[in-house]
Amino acid sequence: MNFDLTPEQDQLRDAVRALGRRYGHSYFVEKAKSGGHTTELWEEAGRLGYLGVNVPTEYGGGGGGLTELAIVCEELAAAGCPLLLLVVSPAIAATVIHRHGTDEQRKRFLPGFADGSLKVVFAITEPDAGSNFHRLGTVARRDGDDWLLSGRKCYISGVDEAQYVLVVARTEDAATGKLKPALFLVPTDAAGLTWSKLDMEIVSPENQFLLYLDDVRLPADALVGGSLDAGLPALFAGLNPERITVAAMGVGTGRYAIERATEYTATRKVWGGRSIGAHQGVAHPLAHAAVQVELARLMIHKAATLYDAGRDLEAGVCGNMAKYAAGEAAALAVDTAVQALGGAGMTTEYGVATLLGAVRAGRIAPVSREMILNFVAQHVLGQEKSY
Ligand SMILES: Cc1cc2nc3c(=O)[nH]c(=O)nc-3n(C[C@H](O)[C@H](O)[C@H](O)COP(=O)(O)OP(=O)(O)OC[C@H]3O[C@@H](n4cnc5c(N)ncnc54)[C@H](O)[C@@H]3O)c2cc1C
Repeated sequence: MNFDLTPEQDQLRDAVRALGRRYGHSYFVEKAKSGGHTTELWEEAGRLGYLGVNVPTEYGGGGGGLTELAIVCEELAAAGCPLLLLVVSPAIAATVIHRHGTDEQRKRFLPGFADGSLKVVFAITEPDAGSNFHRLGTVARRDGDDWLLSGRKCYISGVDEAQYVLVVARTEDAATGKLKPALFLVPTDAAGLTWSKLDMEIVSPENQFLLYLDDVRLPADALVGGSLDAGLPALFAGLNPERITVAAMGVGTGRYAIERATEYTATRKVWGGRSIGAHQGVAHPLAHAAVQVELARLMIHKAATLYDAGRDLEAGVCGNMAKYAAGEAAALAVDTAVQALGGAGMTTEYGVATLLGAVRAGRIAPVSREMILNFVAQHVLGQEKSY
C-alpha cells in the first residue's frame, strides 16, 4: 500500500495549486456574477498542459491517467475555482473518444483535448427520463449515409462555451425497452441545434441549458466508434472518470471552505484574548468536516489508482463511493464554514456562501446520492434492484 504521490504528481499538484491561487475564488465569483466565463484560467491551464494530463502523449497530451486529472480538478477547486467543464470535457468526452472513438476520431479530437483548445460537453439528461436512462427519448434515424437527431436534453453544462456536444441518443429501431445508446459528436453550430439558459441558484460562470435537437443532420463519422455496438461501452467508459473527477472537485471545494474558515476562526476574537477557534463549539464541527473531506479524498485516490491500473469494475465501486462521500463532505464543509464565519460567512467578500449552491448540486449531479446508494445496495450488498 502506498499513499504517496509520485514526484511528478507532487509537482503537478504544486503547479496547479499555484495557478489556481493566482486566479482565486474572487475571480471565479466575479465571472459568475458578470455573466462571464473563466476563459483566461482555462486557456492558461490548457497551455500549461494541465487540461490534457490524461491524453496520451502521441496526441500531444501528458500521458498520465485519471489520478493526474483528479489532482488538477481538486487543486483548482481548492483554490476556489471548481470547474465543472473539467468533468465533462477532459474527463468524460476525452476518455470516451480515446477508449471508444475510431482512429480518425482520436486523431481529430484528442490533440484539442491535449491543449484545452477543444471543449466538448456532455448531454444525457432528459426531462422525461431523469435518472432512468432507459427512457431516453432522443432518437437518431438514418437518412442515406447521414444521421438525423431529434430530442430534448436538460441541465446541460457549458454548451455556450463548447465546440461540440457529446449527445447520448438511441436509434429509431431501439426506441423501446433497454437502452442501446448511440453517442454522437454534434457541433454546437449545427443547424437544428438550439438551447436556452436555465436559471440556476448556483454561483458559477458555467451555466446549464435546455437543448433542443430538431432533425440535426450529422455525417456518418459523427457516431462515436463508427458502430452502434460501440454505444454502450462508450457510455460506460465515461462514468468512472465522471464520478472520480467530480468527487475530486468536491474534496477541493471542501478543503477551500475549511481553509477559509480556519484562517478566520484562528484570528477572530470576540471574548477577550482567545480566538473563536478556541471554542470547541466552533472548532469541532470544522474538525469533523476536515475528517470527512480527508476520508473522501482517500477513496478518490483508491478509485483513481484502480482505474489507472485498468481495474474498471473495482474502480466503479470505489468511484461511486468516492463521489457519494465527497458530495456529502463538500456540502458539510461549506455549510460548517459559513456557520463558523458568522455574518461574514454570508458575505460575498469571504467567499464561502458563494459555494452553497454548487455543493448542494453536487449531491444531485452528475449522479444523485440516491442512485449511488442504489448501486451500492445492489452491487456491494447484493440487494434486489427496486426499479
Ligand atoms: C448543476 C448541474 C449540472 C448538470 N450538468 C449536466 C450535464 O452537463 N449533462 C447532463 O447530461 N446532465 C447534467 N445534469 C443533470 C443531472 O445529471 C441530473 O439532474 C441528475 O442525474 C438527476 O436527474 P433528475 O434531475 O432528472 O432527477 P430525477 O431523476 O427526477 O430524480 C429526482 C429525485 O428522485 C431521486 N430518485 C430518482 N429515482 C430514484 C430511485 N430509483 N431510487 C431512489 N431515488 C430516486 C433522485 O435521486 C432525486 O433526488 C446537471 C445537473 C445539475 C444540477
